[in-house]
Amino acid sequence: MSAEFDLVVIGAGSGGVRAARMAASHGAKVAIIEERFFGGTCVNVGCVPKKLFAYGAGFPGEFELAASYGYRVADWSFDWATLRDNKTHEIERLNGIYRKLLDGAGVQIFEGHGRVESSGTVSVDGETLLQARHILIATGGKPFVPDFPGRDHVRISDDLFYLEQLPKRVAVVGGGYIASEFASILNGLGVAVTQLYRRDLFLRGFDKDVREFVAEGMRHAGVNLRFNTDVTAIEEQGTEKVVRLTDGSELRVDEVFYATGRVPRLDGLFADGVAVQTNERGAIEVNDRFETSVANVYALGDVIDRLQLTPVALAEGMWLAAFLFGEQKPEGPVVYSDVPTAVFCHPNIGTVGLTEEQALARYGTVRVYRSQFRPLRYTLSDIQERTLMKLIVDDSSDKVVGLHMAGEEAAEITQGFAVAIRMGATKADFDATVGIHPSSAEEFVTLRQGETVTAAPQS
Ligand code: FAD
Ligand code: NDP
Repeated sequence: MSAEFDLVVIGAGSGGVRAARMAASHGAKVAIIEERFFGGTCVNVGCVPKKLFAYGAGFPGEFELAASYGYRVADWSFDWATLRDNKTHEIERLNGIYRKLLDGAGVQIFEGHGRVESSGTVSVDGETLLQARHILIATGGKPFVPDFPGRDHVRISDDLFYLEQLPKRVAVVGGGYIASEFASILNGLGVAVTQLYRRDLFLRGFDKDVREFVAEGMRHAGVNLRFNTDVTAIEEQGTEKVVRLTDGSELRVDEVFYATGRVPRLDGLFADGVAVQTNERGAIEVNDRFETSVANVYALGDVIDRLQLTPVALAEGMWLAAFLFGEQKPEGPVVYSDVPTAVFCHPNIGTVGLTEEQALARYGTVRVYRSQFRPLRYTLSDIQERTLMKLIVDDSSDKVVGLHMAGEEAAEITQGFAVAIRMGATKADFDATVGIHPSSAEEFVTLRQGETVTAAPQS
């Protein structure tokens, strides 16, 4: 069989589904090919199930807090299978919704492995051949686990979502988004967690105050954070895993989760002779218009490894659909600065704009406003949860160039302020904004005591 389409999308994840639907809404004849799960990583083994688990992990803290408000929450217990299976049912429901959305938009769905045969043809499972005016690669990424003796004994992030039983003791390796979120989730669910990170402070790339604050918060919550250490080998001894570390010590756990980054998924994607250029990290090289080195072949989302975030893949998908098929073409390229992001570790991180370190490098002199406080919610209890808020202001223009938060509702609060940052709000604009009282968010508009910091001269 051979069918002709304006656009054939390989991969029905965040970016692929959005591009396909939008292209169809612009009147294009679209096909999408998916080999594993509709909705991709985010819906199935990423953002959504992770956030559900993070909610689940918060309940023991809520029960403790409830007591200070007069509630007796005695004899609670936790059943992992209930959380896991309820989550799976919800994900299955979402899979169905994604399918329906595509169907409803008139996108033709093909289940199987997509492969680019030439700049104008794509095969499904090596059989069905689709003729395409344009081909979009939106195949996402997959976990990267480094090589070491005993590598076969580790688990990856996908596995957490379907564990038969919740282990009692776990090592989580890595210091990025997934490792920190998983460490907090497992710890919240009652697992003894050791998080291992190879350098001196995890969450590299985030503001240093935030990283230190979160390290303290996670330790306080019970995570055994071990920095400046790495795994040299893992041995299985009975049901235990013995993790040997660079400092000569060893750790005995039931499971080891590796979250050491994700790499682009290009497996079996190109027929011989289709020479799509990739960079040193294996990501597909594209220009501002998401064009690859092969004519008519485009790529976006995690497979191009710009910012591995769902809203970024969505924005790229919408941009490309409008560029290829829209009556109104996008005015400029997708903007990657001031993209807000959150890490759903405990405490949560919310951040938009530059870190203090980046702002100093760019502007030379900045004003830094910080506040740490115990949210009102906890003041009736002995719970010592705290929140950190920080603003970074370019001293010469008064523009707020970075906004950072660690503490409850960080993602929700940061999303709102991200609009102001993107619009170029100044500190004077923040000061002129009336707060909502009592709230944590009001702290961002009532910060008055700034510290002027000047970059150290280059030696
Ligand atoms: P994907 O969503 O990965 O979709 C790619 C699709 O292509 C998959 O369905 C795959 O099966 C399919 N595919 C691959 N190859 C082929 C082929 N040859 N033929 C057919 N189909 C193919 N981002 C956030 O913004 N917030 C979060 O909270 C968040 N949490 C995350 C938690 C975890 C544990 C992980 C792993 C990721 C998380 N992310 C989060 C990142 C987010 O999931 C990704 O950035 C996003 O899914 C990327 O979308 P995509 O369309 O590029 O790829
Ligand atoms: P990250 O890039 O966030 O972190 C990878 C971590 O692994 C880093 O701490 C890195 O250390 C470490 N590492 C890398 N290679 C090795 C190695 N060979 N040995 C030991 N440690 C190593 O990747 P994640 O896997 O956590 O997540 C992938 C992406 O998915 C994220 O970057 C993010 O974009 C997205 N995501 C987003 C979420 C959200 O929005 N809340 C949640 C989860 C994922 P070093 O610092 O030294 O490089």
